[in-house]
Amino acid sequence: MPDVLWAVLLTSALPRDEYLSYFRLVVDAAYKSDLKMGILHSDGAKLTERQFDSLFAPLFADAGVLNALTPLLLFENLPDRQHWMRHLTLLDYEQALQSLAQAVARTLDHQSEASTDCRWLKLVFMMAAGMMQMPTELARPIIGFPRIGDMRSVRPSIRAAEIALSSMPDKEQNQWPAAFWKECWDKTDCVPAPQREPESGQAEGVARQLIELYALVGDHFFSVCETTDINPRLDAVFGMVLYGINLAMTLNHGTAHRRVEGRLAIRTLTEIVITLSFLLKRDNPNLWQKFRSHGSGQAKLTFLKMIDFESELPDYIDLDEIEMFANEDIWQEFTSIELGNWAGMDLRKMSEEAGLIDVYDKYYGWPSGYVHGQWGALRDTVFDLCLNPLHRYHRIPSLPKRLMGSVAIDALHLVNMLLDSLNMAYPSFKSRVKKPGPAKSEAPLDSDKEGSVEG
Ligand SMILES: [Zn+2]
Repeated sequence: MPDVLWAVLLTSALPRDEYLSYFRLVVDAAYKSDLKMGILHSDGAKLTERQFDSLFAPLFADAGVLNALTPLLLFENLPDRQHWMRHLTLLDYEQALQSLAQAVARTLDHQSEASTDCRWLKLVFMMAAGMMQMPTELARPIIGFPRIGDMRSVRPSIRAAEIALSSMPDKEQNQWPAAFWKECWDKTDCVPAPQREPESGQAEGVARQLIELYALVGDHFFSVCETTDINPRLDAVFGMVLYGINLAMTLNHGTAHRRVEGRLAIRTLTEIVITLSFLLKRDNPNLWQKFRSHGSGQAKLTFLKMIDFESELPDYIDLDEIEMFANEDIWQEFTSIELGNWAGMDLRKMSEEAGLIDVYDKYYGWPSGYVHGQWGALRDTVFDLCLNPLHRYHRIPSLPKRLMGSVAIDALHLVNMLLDSLNMAYPSFKSRVKKPGPAKSEAPLDSDKEGSVEG
């Protein structure tokens, strides 16, 4: 695009019929001359004053066209700047930058009409200057563009031919496009995008429901617990359900459901839903025990590692508590430490066996990127587009996104799946979170207008 900047400027300043007729006049001038060249600015730099002036004479006859071309003088590195300087005067620097930005915005999309017209100019000029030959049936619609042939096929063929032409090895190492973008970067500031407000997705009134549910699940534990013996199945089922409700409660506090934290939590919630369903599907006492022992083993491993740090323990670690967890079921010397996943299989396999592959696909993959700090998550959270077309819509640091699409309703869906599992493992438990209807207001979830648990 910088290679035919003069043409790009005209596509923005003039109606299409007019700029196309100017393009044709320049092409005609090339056809009548004995110039063997292309129409790039670097080609123009090789012309004598007389050659250049006769090629572009039609443009210089019109004051409006000359005015539209003045942004060319913004660029110190424009290859044929000396020629343009003889004809143009830059009076209003700011206005020239504005016009340039508008023209560049029209052609940044390489499939836009203006871009295709500029590509056509490059092609047809090469043909007129005898630098390119084509079979007649291919050449006719290009020469007659945009009046001859079906534009649905002519336009793509122009783009394809020009792209092929541009990707031929560059003998002279055209430095101008890179210099153009560098000068744009040096001369203009970034334009940060305003923070967008996605659909609210507020789960209004669910905070109290979750608190009530948490209490009901606790009550249910006492109604089904028959002894004080260690019961890995009972503890795992109730533990996972309560942990999941707790996560959903955290999400429904303030705007956490619309920030990164929401994505971290929804991923964990998904893992719990799948793990619990998988355990119930097999419902094997050894497997329930394995799930529990793996956790105790992790506590033991943490304890043994942390004890080496003595006075330099991380703030969040309570060593006495971890020691207690490690020794709760059996003395830690008898607890084995198993590395890797507790079941020796990945979550995707578990979700297949539990018939929850759709849950895995919907809620696990993309949020995992946020857990691992991968590029997609960084891009979404702390970068945004610069809206200055002269910067090619690059990405710039932004305020952390606080208003992502809400995960609140999705969290409720997953909590209800946990409750279904609870009901299956220890019937009967019929309470579910009542999902709110379409969002009506921006009121926080923990506002006074609360719904109630559907019993
Ligand atoms: Zn920028």
